[in-house]
Amino acid sequence: MNILPKTKDLVLIGGGHTHALVLRKWGMMPLAGCRVTVINPGPTAPYSGMLPGFVGGHYTRDELDIDLVKLARFAGARLIDGAAVAMDLSAKTISVDGRPPIAFDVAALDIGITSAMPQLDGFAAHGVPAKPLGQFAAWWQAYRTTAAAPRIAVIGGGVAGAELAMAMGFALRGGGHDPVVTLIDRGQVLTALGDVARAKMLAALDASGVVLRENAQVVAVTSSGVTLRGGDTITAEFVTGAAGAKPHDWQAQIGLRVTDGFIDVDAHLQTSDTSVFAVGDCAHMVASPRPKAGVFAVRQAPVLFDNLRAVLSGGDLRAYRPQKDYLKLVSLGGKQALAERFGTARAGPLLWKWKDHIDRKFMDQFDDLPQMAQPDVPRTAALGLKDALGEKPMCGGCGAKVGRGALQDALAGLPPTHRDDIISIAGDDAAIVRVGGVSQVMTTDHLRAFSHDPVLMARITALHALGDIWAMGGKPQAATASLILPRMSATLQRRTMAELMDAARGVMQSAGVAIVGGHSSLGDELTVGFTITGVCDAAPITIAGAQMGDVLILTKPLGSGVLLAAEMTGDARGADVQACFAQMLHAQGDAAAILADAHAMTDVTGFGLAGHAAGIAAASGVQIQINVADVPLMDGAADLAARGVRSSLFTDNVAGAGAWEGVSGPTTDLMFDPQTAGGLLAAVSAKTAVATLAALHSAGHTQAAIIGVCAAGTPPLRFNA
Ligand SMILES: Cc1cc2nc3c(=O)[nH]c(=O)nc-3n(C[C@H](O)[C@H](O)[C@H](O)COP(=O)(O)OP(=O)(O)OC[C@H]3O[C@@H](n4cnc5c(N)ncnc54)[C@H](O)[C@@H]3O)c2cc1C
Repeated sequence: MNILPKTKDLVLIGGGHTHALVLRKWGMMPLAGCRVTVINPGPTAPYSGMLPGFVGGHYTRDELDIDLVKLARFAGARLIDGAAVAMDLSAKTISVDGRPPIAFDVAALDIGITSAMPQLDGFAAHGVPAKPLGQFAAWWQAYRTTAAAPRIAVIGGGVAGAELAMAMGFALRGGGHDPVVTLIDRGQVLTALGDVARAKMLAALDASGVVLRENAQVVAVTSSGVTLRGGDTITAEFVTGAAGAKPHDWQAQIGLRVTDGFIDVDAHLQTSDTSVFAVGDCAHMVASPRPKAGVFAVRQAPVLFDNLRAVLSGGDLRAYRPQKDYLKLVSLGGKQALAERFGTARAGPLLWKWKDHIDRKFMDQFDDLPQMAQPDVPRTAALGLKDALGEKPMCGGCGAKVGRGALQDALAGLPPTHRDDIISIAGDDAAIVRVGGVSQVMTTDHLRAFSHDPVLMARITALHALGDIWAMGGKPQAATASLILPRMSATLQRRTMAELMDAARGVMQSAGVAIVGGHSSLGDELTVGFTITGVCDAAPITIAGAQMGDVLILTKPLGSGVLLAAEMTGDARGADVQACFAQMLHAQGDAAAILADAHAMTDVTGFGLAGHAAGIAAASGVQIQINVADVPLMDGAADLAARGVRSSLFTDNVAGAGAWEGVSGPTTDLMFDPQTAGGLLAAVSAKTAVATLAALHSAGHTQAAIIGVCAAGTPPLRFNA
C-alpha cells in the first residue's frame, strides 16, 4: 500500500511503442508522488514489426498486441479507454469524448500517424488505411475469413505497402484462394531502399505474384475497386492505403509548433511547451529529421523516461541522438525476410527466423512482467498475519466485501425492529420504509477501488448501488456520496473530486436521481460509495415471493470477480478486462422495468449468484435449481476459473451460501464468484418467461438468459450440469 501523497499528474497520450516501453520502466522504477494516466483507444496497441507476420497468418492477434491493461497495472497507472481529441495548454487539460477533462502537469504524445487519405475520393467510404495498425488488423481479420475470390489493391508502393501486399497474398493462398494483389504507386515502388535491397524485394514481389502498377495515380476508390487517372480501373474488394504518413488532424490544433502537421520536438523530445513531450511518428525531430519508423520510437523510450522524471522531480534533461542508419528487416510474405543495412542486403528463411526472434523478444518483455509484490512482513509479527495477508493482493470491488458469514453474525446481534413502518426483511437489497402511504426504499453501498480511474469507479459504484433500488422495483430518487481519496495534494484533490462528481452526476442523472450531498475524506485508498433512496409505485419486489415452477432469469454474465482478481496479478487479458468493465457499466433500470412482474428479484453482487439465489430460496421456501451450462459468463472467466483463479471472497461465499448439491468444478465455482454491478436475478412466471427474455434482448440486454427454475425440495440450492 503506497501511503505517500501524490502531487503531480503525468499523462501519456497514446499507447505507442515509446509509451509502452516507458510504462514498463516506470513499473520497475516509479517516481514517488507522481500519478500516471495513459489514454489509448482500446486495451491494446499493435506492434508494427509483427503486423505483416500477423497479416500473413504467422502470428495471432494476441501475439501482435501489447496489452496496455496489464502494462498500466504494472506501472501503477490508470488506463483511459478513449481517444484524445483536444488539448488545452493554458488550462492544462486533455479532452476525451464522454469524460470530464483530464488534467496534467506534464504530458507526452505518442499517437502515431494515420494512412487515411481524406482527399482521395471514396477512400473514407471504401478504403482501409494501413494505420492505425489496430484498425487495419481488425478489418483484415474480418476480410480474410469471408473473402471468396479475393482481389486486393494496395495504394502506396513503399516498404510497408510491399510487405502488406506479399503478406496478404501469402495468407489468402494458404487459405486455398487464388488472389489477385495489385501494388499501386504514383511513381516507382520501393525507392527508399538501396539498389541491392530493392532488386531483391522486386524479385520477391514477382515471386509472390503481386501485380505492380507504377506511375499510376489513383483518383477514386469505389465499392468495386480503384480508378486511375486516365480512366483505367483495378477491380478490388479490399483497398488499403499505405501511402505515406499523415499526422492526426487534431494535433495541429493544440497550439504546439508543428512542421507539416507533425509536432516539433527538440533534442530533449520537448515540444514548444516545455511541459509537453512528443515521440514516435507523431513528432518531428527538428534538429535531426528521420523517416517514420518504429526503430526511432523504440530508441526514444529511455530518453523520454529520464526526461519525464527530470521535469517532474526537478532534474536535468538529456538529449536523444538518433542513429543515421538502421537495420531494416522486412518480411516477404511467407517465412522469409530481407535485411538491409549500409547498402547491403540479404534475404531468406534464416533472416525470417532472426527477425522473428527479435520481434518475439521485444514482445516478451511486455508479457513477462514481474508479479505485484505483497507488503513485506517483519520477522516478528502477530500470529496469523501471514495467513490473513494471503499470497495474492486483496481484490477490489465486491471481492473486498466482508464475508456473508461475518455479516450475518453481526446482523444477528442487532435487536429486532419494532417499528411497523419498516417492512423489509434481513437479506433484502434495500430497506423498505412506509412514509405517508408510500413505500420508500433506501440503500447504501460502497466499493474499494479496483481501478486507478476515479471516473470508472464512480460510474460503476453508482450503478452498483442503484441496482439495489431497481431490484426492488423502485424508482431511484436522491443520492448522497461518500468518498475516500488516497492522500494527495490539494490540487490533485480538486481534480479527482471534479472527475468523481462529474461521472457520478452523469450516471445518477440518467437514472433520474439528484445528488443532494455527501462526505469526503482522505484515507489509504480510493473508496466510492452512495446512499440512495427510491420510491415504489407498486408493492416492492423482495426476495421472498418466488413460487414453485417459476423460471429464473439472469440479466448479465458472471465473472467480474475472477477477472478483477486476475487483472490485479496481470493474469487476465486486457481486452477481457475492458469487456468486463463494459458489462459493469450496463445500467439495469430498463431491465428492472421489464421484470416488473417478477415474483422475487435481487441484484447479483458480493455474495455471488449462489449466495443471492440462496437468499431467494430461504426467504421464499423453494429449492433453486441452476443449470450451470446456461449461465452466461464474461469473456475469459471460464478460462481463468479453470486455471484456478478465485476472488478473495470466494471461500467466504461458498461457506455463506449454505448447503447445496449437484455438479461441481471450475464453472460451478463461478456461481460463487462475487459480482460488482452484477445483473438482476428474477423469479418469473413460467408462462411469461420467454416473452420477458425476448423483451430483455430487444432492450439491449443481449446476454440475459433463463438459467434455472424454482422447485420443491432441499437443500436450497442445486446445480445441474
Ligand atoms: C505495415 C507496416 C509495417 C511496419 N514495419 C516496421 C518495421 O518493421 N520496423 C519499423 O521500424 N517500423 C515499421 N513500421 C513503421 C511503424 O509502424 C511506426 O514507425 C511505429 O509504429 C511508430 O510507433 P509510434 O509509437 O509512433 O506509434 P504507433 O505504434 O502507431 O502507436 C500509436 C498509438 O496511439 C494510439 N492513438 C492514436 N490516436 C490516439 C488519440 N487521439 N488518443 C490516444 N491514443 C491514440 C493508437 O491507438 C496507438 O496505440 C511499419 C509500418 C507499417 C504500416
